[in-house]
Amino acid sequence: MPKPDTLLAHAGRAPEAYAGMVNTPVFRTSTVIHPTIASYEAPRDLTQKPVSYGRHGTPTTFAFEEAVARLEGAHQAVATPNGLSAIVVALLAVLEPGQHLLVSDSVYSPTRGFCDRRLAAMGIDVEYYDPLIGGGIAELLRDNTGAVFCEAPGSLTFEMQDIPAIAAAAHARDIPVLADNTWVTPYFASPFELGIDISIHAGTKYLGGHSDLMIGVVCTNERYWKPVRMAVYDYGYSVSPDDCYQALRGLRTLGVRLKQHQRNGLEVARWLQARPEVSRVLYPALESDPGHALWKRDFRGASGLFSVVLEPVGDEALARFVDSLRLFGIGSSWGGFESLITVVHAASYRTATRWQPEGPAVRLHIGLEDPADLIADLRQGLDRLHGDKAAAHG
Ligand SMILES: *Cc1c(COP(=O)(O)O)cnc(C)c1O
Repeated sequence: MPKPDTLLAHAGRAPEAYAGMVNTPVFRTSTVIHPTIASYEAPRDLTQKPVSYGRHGTPTTFAFEEAVARLEGAHQAVATPNGLSAIVVALLAVLEPGQHLLVSDSVYSPTRGFCDRRLAAMGIDVEYYDPLIGGGIAELLRDNTGAVFCEAPGSLTFEMQDIPAIAAAAHARDIPVLADNTWVTPYFASPFELGIDISIHAGTKYLGGHSDLMIGVVCTNERYWKPVRMAVYDYGYSVSPDDCYQALRGLRTLGVRLKQHQRNGLEVARWLQARPEVSRVLYPALESDPGHALWKRDFRGASGLFSVVLEPVGDEALARFVDSLRLFGIGSSWGGFESLITVVHAASYRTATRWQPEGPAVRLHIGLEDPADLIADLRQGLDRLHGDKAAAHG
């Protein structure tokens, strides 16, 4: 089995099939013409990915899916229009009305919206669990539990989860484990070795890597491939071949980009940790993080996304800090080449656990800029918090 960097360069390509072209071309189509009516009417098994109709995927789609599946060690993968649709279709593929679903309390908030508004309306009993529960999840499993949904580290608050312990408990009762693996990417983890049955990525983030496309991908083991593939078919999802091409192009440099995001992320996180305005940095790659041991055991690296809990400070001073930054864009999403910042409001929607940080929190995406410049920008911003305090006291 080639190593991840080698797979990134070679998976999902077949120059001999395309006149020697290095990259699999963009195949645009709706209709696929058949030579005879017999060929047209012949039964087709969509789980085998025949080229049969535009909505079912083109060679460009299949090349992207194959590259992600091989990198991740999955049986197969299927692309979806964005990350949220990948989560939605994976859950719909395995759940039946009347079942019980366990979801980590620190899950991506639109995942929560789908569970609370849509799955609940379909008669699925959604229960949130403490992300730190580990093997203790056994006590929450019921006869009608249809799936366990994980996300490690958690969105915004970055708790690591003991996935192998959760998977062992779920598998003892033949319950599938789904995980949103967007943060770690297929490059830094082997989710199927950890016991995950269905691994989901918002390819919008690091796979695309350039803040210019929306795509999702669901990877499965052999057992869950057919239900997931057929759910994508039944719900009518398809992805533009141009977006598949761009995502595959992004994938070619995933390794070099991620290693740099990790290096820059660690440098900025360590600098922040030493600042008096900072209470805690929530980043499993830091030795001081409570999830560090699990991160080290289960993952091969870290991406450049983490949160920072500040010492208590007023809303105005916080806004002055965030608004003063020149190199950090204020905006959603992450995983592109550029740095970003948002304010974290995770406390408002937790239900199974409490998240009460000592001060306000911000989430940073550390991009590929020179970390010295990012640090200088953060320094001038944090100095404004200081200035505010000094002014208030003076
Ligand atoms: C962004 C994100 C998603 C959703 O991806 P979209 O492509 O924006 O739909 C899902 N999960 C996580 C953890 C994310 O950060």
